[in-house]
Amino acid sequence: MYNCPKCGVELQDTDTACQACGWVKEEPAAEAEQATAAASVLDTSDRTAEFDPADMEKNKIWAILGFIFPVLFFVPLVIDGGTSKYGRWLANQQLIIFVASLILSMISCGILGIVALVFQIMGIVYAVQGKAKDLPLISKLEIIKLEK
Ligand SMILES: [Zn+2]
Repeated sequence: MYNCPKCGVELQDTDTACQACGWVKEEPAAEAEQATAAASVLDTSDRTAEFDPADMEKNKIWAILGFIFPVLFFVPLVIDGGTSKYGRWLANQQLIIFVASLILSMISCGILGIVALVFQIMGIVYAVQGKAKDLPLISKLEIIKLEK
């Protein structure tokens, strides 16, 4: 049981409105929705299953190095002649980070470069875990096609 916050009448836990004064209990739906939206931005599609585990293992070092130094984005494309699907996915993510960090740094005198840094760290974490998860927001861009 609880008391109506408006008039103080005793209400049952199951009551969603007060009969005495017309007060209506508000559901915390809006907050929950916001939390879900925020989570869905971070919870990007896990594409690990799309790639060959051996291919991923072989490219792991370039995955990590490429997220540390996105300027190396082209390496996974060169070492296997662009035949590695995971390599192509990596190159695409890293190229986007590279371009985004250049643009963001230019328009903000380096301050917004920190945004790219966040993507880089996420990329490194996924690479170390052996996962291929799209990075938030930017990952929908496909500059380098996955399928040749
Ligand atoms: Zn009331």
